[in-house]
Amino acid sequence: MTHTPNPAHTARESKEPVIVVGAGIAGMTAAFRLQQAGHPVRVLEREDRAGGRMRTVRRRGYHMDLAAILLIENYTQMRDLVRDLDIEDTTLRTNNLVGIRRDGRVHRLRANRPTDLKRSGLLPWSSVPAMVRLQADLRKYAGRLRWNSDMGEAATLDTETAAAYAERRLDTEFRDYVVDPMSAMFFNSPPDLSVVNFLFSMPAVNSEWFNFHDRVDTLTTTLAARLDVETRAEVTQVEETSDGVRVHWRREGEPEHTEEAAAAIVALPGPVAAGLCPGLAPSTLDYLANVPYVPDIHVYFGVDRVPSEPATCVLFPQREHADLGVITFNHNFAPGRAPQGHALLTSYYRYPWAMAHWDDDDDTVEALTHEIHRQAWPEMARHIEAHQDMAYVQRWKNAVILRKPGDYARLRAFNQGLDPRSRIQLAGDYLGFSATNSSLVTGERAARRVREVVTGGAVAAGRV
Ligand SMILES: Cc1cc2nc3c(=O)[nH]c(=O)nc-3n(C[C@H](O)[C@H](O)[C@H](O)COP(=O)(O)OP(=O)(O)OC[C@H]3O[C@@H](n4cnc5c(N)ncnc54)[C@H](O)[C@@H]3O)c2cc1C
Repeated sequence: MTHTPNPAHTARESKEPVIVVGAGIAGMTAAFRLQQAGHPVRVLEREDRAGGRMRTVRRRGYHMDLAAILLIENYTQMRDLVRDLDIEDTTLRTNNLVGIRRDGRVHRLRANRPTDLKRSGLLPWSSVPAMVRLQADLRKYAGRLRWNSDMGEAATLDTETAAAYAERRLDTEFRDYVVDPMSAMFFNSPPDLSVVNFLFSMPAVNSEWFNFHDRVDTLTTTLAARLDVETRAEVTQVEETSDGVRVHWRREGEPEHTEEAAAAIVALPGPVAAGLCPGLAPSTLDYLANVPYVPDIHVYFGVDRVPSEPATCVLFPQREHADLGVITFNHNFAPGRAPQGHALLTSYYRYPWAMAHWDDDDDTVEALTHEIHRQAWPEMARHIEAHQDMAYVQRWKNAVILRKPGDYARLRAFNQGLDPRSRIQLAGDYLGFSATNSSLVTGERAARRVREVVTGGAVAAGRV
């Protein structure tokens, strides 16, 4: 897209920075790409650390990745960013063995080997035709399930729930023991979830996995170290002026700050962005305010003896447990998650449980989780209780997005309606598939648009 160059804007560019609001992967990727292109850029972050939902905390020698944990080789744009940051040596290809619990047993399969579905004994032989149909659909739809899109192509598939797709194209075994546990990875259930989420996650999971040594936030801490990030800076308003933007922010104990800038990128969850940008079009604000995030509660357990389970994660179909979705074995994902001889496990719930227990204190959540382990996997419950040396409860209010059928079509319309020439550009996981790589892609798109606005020229995709 083009618009008439404005020499005044070009002149401002060298004097005034672009302000990025939010130091998650979306915001910091945007900031880094702008900085690479020679633009002064400042990032304002509410918390005392950058990273957002790609952040790690260390406690008693355990590295707990607080949200994003699983990264896949087909995160092409993330791999490119890692290369551009010159930190490839901090990554490694990781174990991708997944377990699915059925009838009190764990069936294990390698994520990138669809035929393991059959070999693992998870599904009966009668499900082989369904498996073949699923692989055929994934091949047919591959071009529409891409990270670098605005999900517009995927929207054409968004006509039914994952459950309805499973019933129409697969079989009940597949629905109950593959589609259902896969949806637990989004804290959801197939009757709620668009088929696009299932189809999107299958090729993603059908891939090799990679990760960072010790902690997933190596990427975000590297970005933060190379950028001007102002932490404990809570932005309260972003407004467009006649030739730029004005950003208001506060920090405890200081008078309110007001900064002028050439443009701003607001890289926050949609409902948070809606509260900060009252000047956006009413339809935009309405969409942002209603992005259907669901909450998450998950509980880490550090244990002083490594359990024998070799999988990175074990998924629980609802037939096995109604609330518990996944237990991850973080020490099996990648090195450095637990001290030598110890292990780190994490229990995740489906979102209705997180909603019901949101106000419970951490001790109650921990006690309930032990009880649920005893119901869902008694041997693992015994191991955790006998060897526990640390527990930690993490909550996210805006965790991931519950996309129902039709939501991707609404997302496409929303993306298409955004003004590429606005001095306030949006980025974040709600503009694509709710995961780190698509957040990063929306940050790159916002950076490209801001460059076009402040320089008055077109910038080719991929050349932010
Ligand atoms: C439990 C969980 C597990 C997940 N697992 C995976 C996974 O395995 N793989 C994967 O790819 N993705 C995963 N995701 C999704 C992924 O973490 C997110 O999609 C992605 O990190 C979002 O990045 P973002 O930059 O869009 O938003 P965020 O990371 O939320 O960044 C927004 C930033 O803005 C800051 N902020 C908020 N309000 C203000 C304000 N007023 N002023 C200034 N700053 C503000 C926040 O503190 C935050 O740092 C998971 C998410 C959750 C919750």
